Amino acid sequence: MLGGPTSPLYWHCSGDSPDAQAIAAWSAYTGQDENAAANWGWLNALHPADRASVREAWHRVGYRPHVFSLAYRVFHKGSGYQAYKTLHVPIYDDQHQLVIWLVFFVATMEATQVADEHWEQKIITSLLYTQTELLARIQEAHSESLAQLEAIFESIADGIVVCDNHKHIIKANTAAAQMFQPLLEQYPDCFRSSFEDVMALLQAFDEQGQRILPEQWPLVRLLNGEDLRGDNVVEMRLIFPNGQDVYLSYSGSPLRDQDGNILGAVLAIRDVTERRRMERRIQNSFKMLLSLAEEIVDIPTYHGARPTEEQFARGHVPPALPFQTVGESLADLTCQMLGYHGVDILLRNPDTGRFQLVAIATRTEENRLAYYDTFADFVLSDYIGESAMALLWANKPVAREIYLTAPKPLLFNALLAPMIMDGVLVGVFSVKKYELHATFTEDEVSIVRAIAKLTLLVIERERLQQEWIEAHSSELALREANRRFDTFLSIASHELRTPLAGIKGNIQLAQRRLSFLKSPELPEKALLLDRLGKVQDYLLHAEHRVNVQNRMISDLLDVSRIQANKLNLVMRPCNLAEIVREAVEDQRYTVTERVITLALPTCEEAMVIGDADRLGQVVGNYLTNALKYSPVEQPVEVNVETQEGVVRVSVRDHGPGLSPEEQKRIWERFYRVKDLPTQGDAPPGLGLGLHICRSILEAHHGRFGLESTLGQGCTFWFALPLACADTSKASSTSETRAGSTHA
Ligand code: ADP
Repeated sequence: MLGGPTSPLYWHCSGDSPDAQAIAAWSAYTGQDENAAANWGWLNALHPADRASVREAWHRVGYRPHVFSLAYRVFHKGSGYQAYKTLHVPIYDDQHQLVIWLVFFVATMEATQVADEHWEQKIITSLLYTQTELLARIQEAHSESLAQLEAIFESIADGIVVCDNHKHIIKANTAAAQMFQPLLEQYPDCFRSSFEDVMALLQAFDEQGQRILPEQWPLVRLLNGEDLRGDNVVEMRLIFPNGQDVYLSYSGSPLRDQDGNILGAVLAIRDVTERRRMERRIQNSFKMLLSLAEEIVDIPTYHGARPTEEQFARGHVPPALPFQTVGESLADLTCQMLGYHGVDILLRNPDTGRFQLVAIATRTEENRLAYYDTFADFVLSDYIGESAMALLWANKPVAREIYLTAPKPLLFNALLAPMIMDGVLVGVFSVKKYELHATFTEDEVSIVRAIAKLTLLVIERERLQQEWIEAHSSELALREANRRFDTFLSIASHELRTPLAGIKGNIQLAQRRLSFLKSPELPEKALLLDRLGKVQDYLLHAEHRVNVQNRMISDLLDVSRIQANKLNLVMRPCNLAEIVREAVEDQRYTVTERVITLALPTCEEAMVIGDADRLGQVVGNYLTNALKYSPVEQPVEVNVETQEGVVRVSVRDHGPGLSPEEQKRIWERFYRVKDLPTQGDAPPGLGLGLHICRSILEAHHGRFGLESTLGQGCTFWFALPLACADTSKASSTSETRAGSTHA
């Protein structure tokens, strides 16, 4: 047998040449060069008569390999051509692919005769030998690839765990062991047990923080046939028995046999703790900023409820809260949310460059006022240095250890974030940590910077709102003033012209009556007296109208003096009781049909320092209004009381009264209640009287006001200090005051 009885030739699949190992034996036997034997060159070592048939047989069988045998002569380099019978056996792999041909040679006497009777037995022996050798080769290749696999397995950065279908861990790489280190330290053998035992030692939570039940664990899902890849990757938080936690992401696939039965599972585990922590931090910071922004929007900026749109439109806007109140809410919020020991908001005075503490929040300090006092006007660089100031101006945050001596000694670490508007340092938002050597993380710095920007927005919002309110209210005031001025003009021109027409008419009548005096015959005395009496009436009427006009003109003059700040008063001691009495007498004389009661202090004296004429004007105005706006049949009550060094004059009527809204505006220039009827032929006023009264009383440093309920009349009053307060002379009357009061 060629190459020895136990070593058959291995032929390349197509039979084109013996393979690398067998070719040596072939060359040794035939003397053919190894290279020459390749690519069907071996046929040349055959007897020329056999070559064609052998080649054809190989080709034929090449399409459908099966065992076949041939007989031919092979050249032996020592003894010439030898006759052989050959058996060709195809070897397949498990995919039914042809791997190699085994060619067995058996020497025969003649080309067709089998010389060795035991050749088939020998072939079987050879086959067995070949099988063993092949097995050895396969095993060798297998262990080589196993070693490679192992190296790959270990080099994977993800943790890889292989389990059987009983949840036993068959294999886990180093990365997996590292991920479970806290567990392995406490339970070194836990990877040798069932995965269920490992699970029992851990607490697992899903992304929503819900506990993961044993049947929801990734391994269990894999063994149930689920594939955990792509969207199905599971992320969970594990808490080890020692309290340490990790975030792990699990992917994997079940392991199946050829029939699809699940044999186990491979799990790939990735440690995502750092990524999750970062996400958490970002998310928390974002949430914090968001809620802070929401809170800021809700911080009240007005006393009481926020004004409605309608109030805005009508200009009835309550005063805005000072920034300190808003700023303190902001500082308190930051202090609570971020857990700092203190938060300060400092604003820079653009004129002086010095700083003012406008808001402070602290967790420990009770006495905020002391800080406001100490830091009402200070130089920031004294505390943080010039280099830090330069950084703030360059819009960069600064962390500094700061030592305060006042209002009490305090050492703390501060992070100062600048508030820059249009390139100018407007203020600083600062947070404090009292612990020694405390530092601020990058996240903290970003958040504090963002809050500083929000604060700046709030400041800007306040400023714009204030400007808007001022602009809006002055616009409204201007519009209202114009409107009132128009009304005033139309009334004034009418009221000034009407008395003129009356005066003219009365004078013409008087003239006509007097013309008879020119006639040569004088009437008899009685008729003469009657006619003269009529003339006097006409002239009285004319005088009354002249007075009305006179009053209007002097009111107008007074108002222009008030406007020009030229209302000159002649201040000297005078008896207010007497002034009131005279004013009442005047009215009683003019409006004879009305009842005017007067109550004076018992001593009939109430000395004040003032301008007697002007005070008389005030009383006169209160009185004419009371008479003008209340029914004729109702009395008007005038009271003068002295008490505790003050004299108070009041005029009460039983007219229509005034609403609270009207009461507030009654003292304004040109203000008149719309469509308020007057008594008799009293002309509608110009809306100037009370405004003049107010100016006169203010010039006397007096107090004045009005008490009224709609439909129940009015009591206008004013009070002045007594010149020589003699309380023994004071009347016993006391009163409770309600309604609007003006100092
Ligand atoms: P006028 O010359 O129009 O009376 P005043 O300044 O004296 O101007 O008064 C302003 C307005 O206040 C009046 O137009 C009237 O509408 C209202 N008013 C003043 N006094 C009374 C009163 N005693 N009762 C009701 N309304 C009054």
